Amino acid sequence: MFNKEKKIIISGPCSAETEEQLMKTALQIAATGKVDMLRAGIWKPRTKPGMFEGVGAEGLLWLSNAKKQTGLPVAIEVATSKHVEEALNYGIDMFWIGARTTANPFSVQEIADSLKGVEIPVFVKNPINADLELWSGALERFKKSGIENVGMIHRGFSNYGNTEYRNPPMWHLPIEMKRRHPDMLLLCDPSHICGNRILLHVISQKAIDLDFDGLMIESHNNPDKAWSDSKQQITPEDLLDMINHLTWRSEDSEKKEFLDALSRLREQIDIIDDELLSLLSHRMKIAEKIGSYKKQNEITIFQRKRWNDIFENALVRKKDLGLSEEFIKKYLEAVHLESISHQNKIMNNQSEENEI
Ligand code: PEP
Ligand code: MN
Repeated sequence: MFNKEKKIIISGPCSAETEEQLMKTALQIAATGKVDMLRAGIWKPRTKPGMFEGVGAEGLLWLSNAKKQTGLPVAIEVATSKHVEEALNYGIDMFWIGARTTANPFSVQEIADSLKGVEIPVFVKNPINADLELWSGALERFKKSGIENVGMIHRGFSNYGNTEYRNPPMWHLPIEMKRRHPDMLLLCDPSHICGNRILLHVISQKAIDLDFDGLMIESHNNPDKAWSDSKQQITPEDLLDMINHLTWRSEDSEKKEFLDALSRLREQIDIIDDELLSLLSHRMKIAEKIGSYKKQNEITIFQRKRWNDIFENALVRKKDLGLSEEFIKKYLEAVHLESISHQNKIMNNQSEENEI
């Protein structure tokens, strides 16, 4: 169904709302000439009751009409065996499994069982929680049911509290899944990662740079009036503009391959460096708390025995880590010095706000 040589673009509304809305959006999407498949949610897993939960089976006919009119194959989310059964009657071309469903092995198994003997591609979104075993387990359940075309969709991982993303991407996780499942297609869903239109371009570009096989982007003929996920949907016109402004990789050449591999590895290094810095910052915050306790109990900052223990433990581990003794020593000294300086600030600062 998909041409592996070309990046795949799937787009369409978060939800099919009315026949008119779906048809208008579908025609506009088809007119871009850039979209390979039309998506629309028919049954919507909403966080709270009382929200729009999708039009249900009625929308399947609208989708099959949109398919006839545009010639685009169509994809929907299925979450139960009943959804599968109903959708198969309307010639739906691809199913995706939503993030909430992937997190539930009972549901995944039920859907996988209902697909035995059916030839249809199934794309599995990552579970809402950052659990790669659960994601891999779902892929395995579909493979075991005989589905040949099983793919993955990265839509970010849910997170408590405010971040700039609705679902932070945690890029190292889909990268690891690509490593584990090299033969499967991996798409990125920037819409559910971002939760707003502003970041869509940056996240889509990042996915392309990380060699994802394509994008699933929500679009709507009138996004501000959408019945679900209105902040993150864009018009088909804006979609076209965004696609035209993405930097797509050009044809293969030996040099190109090398550059691609290099940039992929550098992306990984950037992500890891970023994580290391966050961890170090977290470590310093803990050191500050220790500083505060030491101050209250009138203990010195530097404690030779503790420092020797840290150093010796690291040297024992170095055998497994493939790091040189010299590097470990330099690294620990730098961390220790920084930690002392943080504790020093706490010890010598009398202001209330630094007290625990
Ligand atoms: C969707 O694609 O509309 C959807 C509900 O996505 P997710 O399962 O990623 O939340
Ligand atoms: Mn949505």
